[in-house]
Amino acid sequence: MKIREEFLPYALPSVSESDVQAVVGTLKSRWWSKGPRTIEFEQRFAHYVGAKHAVAVNSGTAALHLALLAKGVTAGDEVITTPFTFVSTVNTIVHTGATPVFVDVDPNTGLIDAGQIEDKITERTKAIVPVHFAGQTCDMDAIMQLAQKYSLFVSEDAAHAVYSTYKGRRIGSIGDATSFSFYSTKNLAVGEGGMLTTDDDALAERARVLSMNGMEKNAWNRYNRGGAWKYEVVDIGYKYNMYDLTASIGLSQLERLEGMQQKRETYAAIYNRMFQNIPGITPLEQVPYSTHSWYLYVIRVDADILGIDRDEFIDKLTEYNIGTGVHFLPVHRHPYYQMHFPVAKDSLPGAEKLFSQVISLPLYPDMTEDDVYYVAKSVEEIAAKHAT
Ligand SMILES: *Cc1c(COP(=O)(O)O)cnc(C)c1O
Repeated sequence: MKIREEFLPYALPSVSESDVQAVVGTLKSRWWSKGPRTIEFEQRFAHYVGAKHAVAVNSGTAALHLALLAKGVTAGDEVITTPFTFVSTVNTIVHTGATPVFVDVDPNTGLIDAGQIEDKITERTKAIVPVHFAGQTCDMDAIMQLAQKYSLFVSEDAAHAVYSTYKGRRIGSIGDATSFSFYSTKNLAVGEGGMLTTDDDALAERARVLSMNGMEKNAWNRYNRGGAWKYEVVDIGYKYNMYDLTASIGLSQLERLEGMQQKRETYAAIYNRMFQNIPGITPLEQVPYSTHSWYLYVIRVDADILGIDRDEFIDKLTEYNIGTGVHFLPVHRHPYYQMHFPVAKDSLPGAEKLFSQVISLPLYPDMTEDDVYYVAKSVEEIAAKHAT
């Protein structure tokens, strides 16, 4: 196979002329901070996922943090989540003062093993933070039932799941609160941004106040004609709000989401077909109760069959000029967590095993079908060269 000349990154945001015009329009409007576009984006997003409220923030991390803060999670509490996630899922638990408690994932899907949650619930447990890994959803019925039984708060990490559904219901309308990320690589991207959705009026209001330094009124209300200069700080908040420049990209991307998702689905179907019969290469398993947002296309490399391990396979793909990602180094393996929240050795075998095998391949709307075939054939060629 001829090696391509141009490097193919594993992820890139999609940019359309409408995205560009949206930003230019906001620039020229001279209202750049939180204002009418942010509010419109919140309303449209809430409608899209089927939630009563959406609070736009400046990152998915901020949304995760605000959800727990707004519920009053604090020092002395325990919050259950999985180690197989981006570190901010767990950092935000630590930021509240609570203790993260890890439940292992199914090594075939990367999703929290709901059957193992109940064992980890104590009288200190306040919340569960399930992570919809790669774009498939966790088993939400099982999680919501446990939450009801033990009066726990469910704050979903839906950074990968902006388009996903669980048993026909859009993610963002199921748990008590759901956090989305609009980071550059995510399915709906604004650069840096996020959204918190909830049906709970009080939770939404508290999150909104906390996202604006604890101020009761936002600047839009204050500076517009007829707006009062007066504001009062009612809580010790953060500067977490989204602003109109990024919200305008979000509005444009939300309009285009269906089309972008169709590309992801087409490309994922090509990979699925191409990887059906390659010894040593296995895509993640698909679960029956969830649709897939295809945020990540993850293959597992079986070193016993291939004779080369995941890291060596990545080196080979780099030689083919293909970019890759590894999602994720389990959170408990990071030095900070080893030091402050150590876990018993071999207590999270699913996450450990999966981590040793996973590679995320390029998958995004602005790549071409030829790019997808190039990646698939490269994987096939590397595997064939090494299979024993
Ligand atoms: C991207 C991501 C986040 C954080 O989102 P940011 O917008 O970058 O703060 C949280 N959780 C998971 C699983 C992610 O992939």
